[in-house]
Amino acid sequence: MKSEQLIKDVHAIREAHPENLMVRYFDGEWFSSLGKPEQERLLNIIATGLKNPDSQMGAYAMRPDDYALFAPLFDPMIRDFHSIPPDTKIKQVSDWNFSGIQGDLSAIDQRLADTSMRVRVARNVAAYPLPGAMSRDERLSFEALAVEAFSVLMKDPGFGGQYLSLTPGSPHQMSEREYTSRVQAHQMFKDMSADRYLNAAGISADWPHGRGMYVSEQEDFLVWVGEEDHLRIMAMRRGGDLKALFTRLHGGLEKLEHLLPPFAMSPTYGALNSCPTNLGAGMRASLHLKLPSLTQGDADLKRLKLLAQPLGLVVRGAAGEHSGAGEGGLVDISPNARLGVSEKEILNRLYQGTKTLWAAEIR
Ligand code: ADP
Ligand code: MG
Repeated sequence: MKSEQLIKDVHAIREAHPENLMVRYFDGEWFSSLGKPEQERLLNIIATGLKNPDSQMGAYAMRPDDYALFAPLFDPMIRDFHSIPPDTKIKQVSDWNFSGIQGDLSAIDQRLADTSMRVRVARNVAAYPLPGAMSRDERLSFEALAVEAFSVLMKDPGFGGQYLSLTPGSPHQMSEREYTSRVQAHQMFKDMSADRYLNAAGISADWPHGRGMYVSEQEDFLVWVGEEDHLRIMAMRRGGDLKALFTRLHGGLEKLEHLLPPFAMSPTYGALNSCPTNLGAGMRASLHLKLPSLTQGDADLKRLKLLAQPLGLVVRGAAGEHSGAGEGGLVDISPNARLGVSEKEILNRLYQGTKTLWAAEIR
């Protein structure tokens, strides 16, 4: 694409979609100053935001070093999304020590004793391109690497379980029926080839090759392979014990860190993931809560979202991003912040914020 045409397109999108952060911060002069190979790389990074003007971010990293190499675009986008002022230093510090959090982390409220809880982190192995730039062979070789790590994990009595693949002809291949039921159980990711944002970024290319999931014997520790990031590592359980949930994730994450080549991490941005929204702890911790009174007659969850915002919480529908409330007012509540906040702070925000929301629900 010619620079002039690109700059024209960017300006047109900026008019129609000021929310698209890529076009907001794309600097045509800077683009023109780059060498050909860098321009090619950048075009792949921003393809999703050009093809999908309604994108919130509009750019996906293709390689872990994109964040440093293309900082003139990424840094302002990241600061905007994560609400970090331009002159503030960004630093990601990890903290899994949950002592000192105010309140009883093992129960938010007795009436929420059967809540479905989930916490995941996104991780990518530094030696591979990010999913948007992987070849089919790289997707398959990455899956093989992950399977090797899982085979060690499976021998650990604290994990056990199995690996289920979507790769055609894989010895671990799961049936269509099993895949559907695992998606319905919220254990496995949806068909990515139906997602236009991921398609434009190349993240869903070669679907379903190199995709799969590990699930522990107790079905409380799971790993997605080949979704938006190389790995989405998560703990899931029912009840109200948030500390137990986070501790389960931390234990499994540490095991995998020893079984896999180094993850792409930076002292500034933390976990280097495909989407700039997932930098930092790369963590999303969520509760599936039934809030019939707060969601009543509110199909797009506007009122609830307004209530959750000052608490640092975001609301998603019961089937994940871009879905609506489920039966009985079932919604997905999670802290907004990922970058510049520790795991402990994320747990704290989920716990304190949910307590406040719940008090409003039962008032
Ligand atoms: P993420 O981007 O954090 O992986 P998504 O919004 O894409 O999350 O949702 C992924 C899947 O996880 C969906 O099936 C969603 O319903 C499920 N999910 C999210 N939070 C919970 C929860 N607390 N309990 C059960 N399932 C959940
Ligand atoms: Mg997702």
